[in-house]
Amino acid sequence: MIPAAEALLSFVRTRCLMRPGLDRAGFEAWQGRALARWLAHELPRAPAYGKPARHLTDLPVTDKAGLMADFAAFNTAGVTAEEAWAAIPNGGEVRGFTVGASTGTSGNRGLFVISEVERFRWLGAMLAKTMADLLWRPRRVAIVLPRDTRLYHAARRFRWIDLRFFDLTQGIETQRLALEKFAPDVIVAPPRALREMAGLGLRLAPRRLFAAAETLDQIDRPLIEAHFQQPLHQIYMATEGLLAATCRYGRLHLAEDSVHFEFTAVGDGLVSPVITAFCRQTQIMARYRMNDLLRLSTAPCACGSALRAVDEVVGRSDDCFHLPGGLITPDVLRNAVIDADRRITDFRLWQTESNAVTLVLPPDLPDDAALAALSSLRNLLSRQGSQIGLTLIRQPLASDPARKLRRVERRWQDGPP
Ligand SMILES: [Zn+2]
Repeated sequence: MIPAAEALLSFVRTRCLMRPGLDRAGFEAWQGRALARWLAHELPRAPAYGKPARHLTDLPVTDKAGLMADFAAFNTAGVTAEEAWAAIPNGGEVRGFTVGASTGTSGNRGLFVISEVERFRWLGAMLAKTMADLLWRPRRVAIVLPRDTRLYHAARRFRWIDLRFFDLTQGIETQRLALEKFAPDVIVAPPRALREMAGLGLRLAPRRLFAAAETLDQIDRPLIEAHFQQPLHQIYMATEGLLAATCRYGRLHLAEDSVHFEFTAVGDGLVSPVITAFCRQTQIMARYRMNDLLRLSTAPCACGSALRAVDEVVGRSDDCFHLPGGLITPDVLRNAVIDADRRITDFRLWQTESNAVTLVLPPDLPDDAALAALSSLRNLLSRQGSQIGLTLIRQPLASDPARKLRRVERRWQDGPP
């Protein structure tokens, strides 16, 4: 099929599955059939599986380490990790397939491989979920990310969408003139980049604004929304593909029309997802454990979508602090700091030892605000019932544009299990 038709078909299918009034039972029945077909016909094409499965739960749970240990076994194109890494700096193509890598620390980046057909399906689904109502006239879309990928180039096939990539590693200040000249209708960028655009006072008037590629911390939202005079939407995407996008009411809905989610409870109302991408035919991802922590919504959304809503993507499970008294999730730690004083608009919090935590605050924050944060943290940690050393450092909060920003970070690794 020609790419445009593939994208259009995917667009229509996606709109159809997110339409208001489709009831959950009907949706689950559709999803069950699609998943069963995928387990019977697509799964066996990856050497790691080799045969069909009757039930999803018959399969083992996989993770990034397992996938990266034998990348070629988990895709039907036989693309090896070595081939993919070699191709990424040169345009990201291996034998007609698109390869790319996630933003992460160098040792922890995940790879993906997709076919041409999947690339256009992805574009169709993405447009359907994020800007279907804006497409009645040509649009300029700015993608501001640390790394370009051929994934986005699929849009170049269409005249009515001018999608341009801006390299975040060069810094917003450097890209400022180019961004203002392009005058995008839609901006997709990590929240800290949007916040930097706001801080530098970039003269832009987008009609829609998306935070992507990093966890959206609630402290960034008001600053971004105030500058752009637009509600901030979210795209939750990972190497694993499109996982959720916000509806017009601003609620995040899981992309259950292409991904099946299982959830492991982590405590505190948070879950960690295990995903099966049942529309993918090249990279086979079955019961893949993600590192993210989600808070699922309990209330239905006013948009009437049958797709499950998420209140917040909280952060990564490996950034939970493992302290002698137990585990504390990143959102609880973050709230202890930012709820302590309204003047705190940025911070870093690291677990540096089994019983040591460091709080970093900028030098221009007044002392009483810093002390309030310290005392709030001390209360939280003392409830853990053990002696934890808490250090305050006052220094400018730099962030590496090539790396994801994690305000709460566990830098201390547990010993062997
Ligand atoms: Zn909704």
